[in-house]
Amino acid sequence: MKFNTKTIHGGQSHDKAYGAVMPPIYQTSTYAQSTPGGHKGYEYSRTHNPTRHALENAFASIENGSYGLAFASGLAAIDAVIKLLQPGDEVISTNDLYGGTYRLFTKIFEGFGVKFHFIGMENADNIDRYVNQNTKLIWVETPTNPMMNIIDIKAVSRVAKKHNLLLAVDNTFATPYLQRPIDLGADIVMHSATKYLGGHSDVVMGALVVNDKSLAERLYFIQNASGAVCGPQDSFLVLRGIKTLHVRMQRHCENGKVIANWLSKHPKIEKVYWPGFEDHPNHAVAKAQMADFGGMLSFTTKGNNYAEAIKIVERLKIFTLAESLGGVESLAGHPASMTHASIPKEEREKTGVVDSLIRLSVGIEDVDDLIEDLSQAIE
Ligand SMILES: *Cc1c(COP(=O)(O)O)cnc(C)c1O
Repeated sequence: MKFNTKTIHGGQSHDKAYGAVMPPIYQTSTYAQSTPGGHKGYEYSRTHNPTRHALENAFASIENGSYGLAFASGLAAIDAVIKLLQPGDEVISTNDLYGGTYRLFTKIFEGFGVKFHFIGMENADNIDRYVNQNTKLIWVETPTNPMMNIIDIKAVSRVAKKHNLLLAVDNTFATPYLQRPIDLGADIVMHSATKYLGGHSDVVMGALVVNDKSLAERLYFIQNASGAVCGPQDSFLVLRGIKTLHVRMQRHCENGKVIANWLSKHPKIEKVYWPGFEDHPNHAVAKAQMADFGGMLSFTTKGNNYAEAIKIVERLKIFTLAESLGGVESLAGHPASMTHASIPKEEREKTGVVDSLIRLSVGIEDVDDLIEDLSQAIE
């Protein structure tokens, strides 16, 4: 089955009771048993729920994995991955990382004795010198947020295999429409399904997909034992979202490309960060591992003025000034005052998050309207 068919049919079967084409929302916490242990495969909804199960099968299918797991949020999914580890274990992570992931690693799991190294992985050979006998996991985000750096997943997976480490990839920005990390050598794919998989800014949810049976069993155990599962209503919504992932992503990419090019020619714009440009430092890797370049981009204005950037995002009318990304509607964010405000100015500027940086999640509206909106906001 090809990807555009998997989004609609992958791992799905019609409802056995009445033939419902969409899985019913099994809004139930428990299931009747005829005799102790005599059930139809479902006992308690933290452990299993048929609506969630249908969604988990869809997650596995679109990521070319064998096992999918759905969680209450993206961070709950990441939390489950780190719970595979023990005190004393070490993780090597990309340094340009989603802020909530960084917070979970440093403020929660460092307190439990897990050690994290945050490093640049644009060159995968960098990783070797941080590996020791305690290293268990490599954590990768690509493209990164908000600087749109690209990490070569295949190259990192070679390092992971050489040292017998697990490789987890946060595939939230790219989605399996653009890149499938398991095919590139990753062991675990993670999603904030809140973003493109849900696609309509109406659900908070997380996902994991793996291929290895024993790894899947350990993660299912953690999912049930820790209990950060999503409800049946949200499962239904994300399953519905996935059915249009390929058509939405196609338009996100088309609109993203037009806007990136328009911004790059604008006299008031200093720099546009988008992996589709030939002068992007890892354009060749992006071209090789991604089917297209996505709908996320960032830009800075000439003069790098904080107040001017704030004015631009305030003037936008079709783009909504908001956290998050990946919905059908266009969103804009100002990292220095929003997502990255808690990072000291010198620290954030080291990774490129300067005062005038604005991040766009380009939606699927008519691109002419989006450009008109940006144009009046920047003038
Ligand atoms: C939003 C996001 C997360 C966290 O997901 P939640 O669903 O908000 O918990 C993790 N990684 C990336 C790249 C994200 O954009």
